[in-house]
Amino acid sequence: MRTTAVVPLTLDRASSARVTFRPHEGCWWLWRPCRTCGGVEVPLRNRTATLDGSPCPACETQRRRLEPPSADPAVWYDTKLEGWVVRLPCGDPPAAALMPIEIRWYDAGWAEVHRAAADLAYGLELD
Ligand SMILES: [Zn+2]
Repeated sequence: MRTTAVVPLTLDRASSARVTFRPHEGCWWLWRPCRTCGGVEVPLRNRTATLDGSPCPACETQRRRLEPPSADPAVWYDTKLEGWVVRLPCGDPPAAALMPIEIRWYDAGWAEVHRAAADLAYGLELD
């Protein structure tokens, strides 16, 4: 895997997070170290993304996938699918469907992600 640039993040001094550019993909990737899982890389729209104390996306993916389905939709960045997903409640007994919302950027805007998730959720009937 070829990279041309490594840009240390200055907003998270306690970690060794870094951003690299992959020319064959034409995008930036954030390496997010984690004491629990070892770390994960996520694609970025902008190389200036910040971590802002957010949880490790790989650990958050694991936690979200293992939690019991609730009556409300849930949205998160899923590192296994490399994109944002929405979990929609369905069925009786309660179950859930995990739907990709086709936004791959970890640093996508929260409003954009939730709008796409709502469009998907209201466009489907899962019961
Ligand atoms: Zn982790």
